Amino acid sequence: MNTINQQRLLGRFLRYVQIDTTAGEPGGTYPSSPGQLVLGKLLADELREMGLADVEHDQHGLVWATVPATMKPPGNQPLPVVAFNSHVDTSPETTGKNVKPHVIRQYRGGDIRLTGDATKVIRVADNPELEKLVGKTIITTDGTTLLGSDDKSGVAVIMELAHHLVEHPQIPHGPIRVLFTCDEEIGHGIDHVDLAKLGATVCYTLDGSGAGDIDTETFSADLAVVTVRGINIHPSIGKGRMVNAVRVAAALIDRLPKGTLSPETTDGRDGFLHPYQIEGGVAEVKLKILLRDFVTAGLAEKAQLITKAAREVEVEFPRSQIEVQVIKQYRNLGEGLAREPRAVAYAQEAHRRLGREAKLTIIRGGTDGSQLTEKGLPTPNLSTGEHNPHSPLEWTCLEEMVQAAEVLVELVQVWAGK
Ligand SMILES: [Zn+2]
Repeated sequence: MNTINQQRLLGRFLRYVQIDTTAGEPGGTYPSSPGQLVLGKLLADELREMGLADVEHDQHGLVWATVPATMKPPGNQPLPVVAFNSHVDTSPETTGKNVKPHVIRQYRGGDIRLTGDATKVIRVADNPELEKLVGKTIITTDGTTLLGSDDKSGVAVIMELAHHLVEHPQIPHGPIRVLFTCDEEIGHGIDHVDLAKLGATVCYTLDGSGAGDIDTETFSADLAVVTVRGINIHPSIGKGRMVNAVRVAAALIDRLPKGTLSPETTDGRDGFLHPYQIEGGVAEVKLKILLRDFVTAGLAEKAQLITKAAREVEVEFPRSQIEVQVIKQYRNLGEGLAREPRAVAYAQEAHRRLGREAKLTIIRGGTDGSQLTEKGLPTPNLSTGEHNPHSPLEWTCLEEMVQAAEVLVELVQVWAGK
């Protein structure tokens, strides 16, 4: 097997994480922060330098490119087109300004105290996966920022894959599409993805943690927006006239399940209702509730619980009005993947060819793959070495990134060979 250029991969990763691409506020310009355009331009330049085809940094900041096929289709059917996607933005939950990556070569084991903030320690107790990584290269922050391994590990792995394939034209594969997106962290990763332009049979997001996982299911998700209307009047003359929406909303929240069906009390395959935002006053309160379930039909049952509670509370507070609006968010990846079983089966086969066994995993959240899959492009999510995303305790392992690149090299051959 041709080995992945580990040092070059590390160099890429360190280069990319030092560009601040923290996502901004949704609803403004696209992309939401200028750093995403800076990184996108760098990636497009590097892809052109490698000699990829169709390299484009488009008006929305997305980067597109093609590694042309190295073989002709065996029959008269065209070879499947395989796409790889990562996002260039990082989470606004922790700053991504002035990231100072810290490279630990030949990690000796034990807790890792971060150099820029003595209170920040990556503890083995909280990160048991570190125990298997003694002797490996670990990259951390200095404790004052996030690392941006989510998702620049994925970006670096895809870039290295492209470079590797260009340098090794003897590797047989069909057309490979590369796509880097913006604003994934604020829910707008695929706003400007044109599937016809991508032209792919299958896509893989490189945005998973650790090594050897294939995420095959996500939640199905809806958002319930509850508007509670009261009647506001000066408190001095409120007797018998005021209806306080704050109290009505409190009564409604109190009736929602707490001991079950909440994020605080569920894990594994159990879904939940999660009231996460409230604002307003006496006249009107707006309440947002996330609905999550691996079974899409379970979302309607959860919405029903809210409506039922609303009707009861309206009886308790005559003249109050409660309106429940349910907005569709995304659907379980597994539903769409079932229509293209090769997407996961071939990824498993790629691991097997490397003597590894992939673990099929589920995400208690969504990925851009959930939406791509729903739109008709099957898109599982693959491991890419990330750990502790969105946190100053974020870290990545270089050897796990190399493993991810190796999987992709095999994967493109599996797709070409079947
Ligand atoms: Zn991510």
